[in-house]
Amino acid sequence: MIRPQNAAEVVDAVSYARTQDVPLSVRSGGHGISGRSTNDGGVVVDMSRMNKVEVLDRATRRVRLEPGARWGDVAQTLAPYGLAMSSGDYGDVGVGGLATTAGVGYLARRHGLTIDHVVAVEIVTADGRLLRVDDEHHPDLFWAIRGAGGNFGVVTALELEAYEVDKVVYAQLVADATDTAGLLRRWGQLVEDAPRELTSFLSLFPGRRGNPPAAQVTLVYAGDDVEAAQSALSPFLGIGPILDQQAQLVPYPAIVVPPGNQHRGQGLKDTRSGLLHHVTPQAADLMENMIHSGDVMIMQLRSVGGAVNDVARDATAYPHREQNFSVLAATVPDRRPQLDKLWAELYPYLDGLYLSFESDTDPARLLDAWPEPTLGRLRAIKASYDPDNVFNRNFPIPPAEPVD
Ligand SMILES: Cc1cc2nc3c(=O)[nH]c(=O)nc-3n(C[C@H](O)[C@H](O)[C@H](O)COP(=O)(O)OP(=O)(O)OC[C@H]3O[C@@H](n4cnc5c(N)ncnc54)[C@H](O)[C@@H]3O)c2cc1C
Repeated sequence: MIRPQNAAEVVDAVSYARTQDVPLSVRSGGHGISGRSTNDGGVVVDMSRMNKVEVLDRATRRVRLEPGARWGDVAQTLAPYGLAMSSGDYGDVGVGGLATTAGVGYLARRHGLTIDHVVAVEIVTADGRLLRVDDEHHPDLFWAIRGAGGNFGVVTALELEAYEVDKVVYAQLVADATDTAGLLRRWGQLVEDAPRELTSFLSLFPGRRGNPPAAQVTLVYAGDDVEAAQSALSPFLGIGPILDQQAQLVPYPAIVVPPGNQHRGQGLKDTRSGLLHHVTPQAADLMENMIHSGDVMIMQLRSVGGAVNDVARDATAYPHREQNFSVLAATVPDRRPQLDKLWAELYPYLDGLYLSFESDTDPARLLDAWPEPTLGRLRAIKASYDPDNVFNRNFPIPPAEPVD
């Protein structure tokens, strides 16, 4: 394992790795699903020492993040400036992996994905060059990094435009999900009808020890207007029988589970991911089958839509700009075949996937992550920046064949 402390050492690490005929993995926070940031007997470039978080300019809200920083630290550092950058629910997740794929966070419907705020990236490419890329410099590579970054090099820093966020309203509901399909349909419709200040994550758990299936719903209202928040949140009390509820006005960092606390990435690694336009009756029935089957340990639906869908499909290498929901199902290794069978029934209703939540390594998934023309464009960029496919651990994109 190599643990560089600066970009020059990353250049040395990539050059060294290329002299060895072994796998090369890049790790930032180590939260990648299915061990994609590690390998057996190969080289791991571990970016955890490069973890600085800086506010470059408060007036333009420009911040610089090193990839080894954790999102909980980012939230804590930006808060005193009245700034935030939505990332995800776990503060332990690393900047490097999340900011190069999408970043589906608690402020997504109001402020979009994390990658939508990236304005420049510093990256060491397969030939050992340290490049600073943005809309004007290597724009093709800059485009590719925002959605498929793991394929193109080792990111050593990112500059993002943060946004002004102070307090948010954070609510949690627990509901009896015996009527899973009905609850999902109602939740889905309410999310789509809600103002975009509201983003919601819903986790479903199967019934256990005589208890019915349960839904845990997180609702975040991006703003401190308590009255407006109340009217956006209260319809959700109608999703099903409510067993517990709470709501608080809190600073944004309080809702990102802090680094080092709880989850350290040893969760369920057998996951499937998909994106849905709407929670239709058919999709809701199939998700009910999954959670009632006993073969799926948890399902999570996250609202996207809103500001995520203001961005053009071809503006970044994350082309999923019409869907309103991300869906994830996870299980234990010995139930993987059952999960895949159930997922195959849902698949016709899905449109694409989020690669950070998908552990299936079938190359067919590449087209779900990057439907054409995105994949073709990525293959051409891969051929020019990584023709030998050095960075091949995370949804590996085959370089385009050279044209004579
Ligand atoms: C508990 C948990 C909660 C999560 N919650 C969310 C969420 O709310 N929203 C969301 O969008 N995602 C979420 N994720 C998914 C998460 O975004 C991805 O797993 C992400 O890859 C983790 O980033 P990392 O740096 O910790 O990963 P790592 O395991 O370090 O890296 C994963 C992969 O990312 C690439 N990568 C990492 N660092 C670099 C770099 N410096 N340069 C280039 N490529 C790099 C590599 O291909 C690497 O294999 C969650 C994951 C977990 C385990």
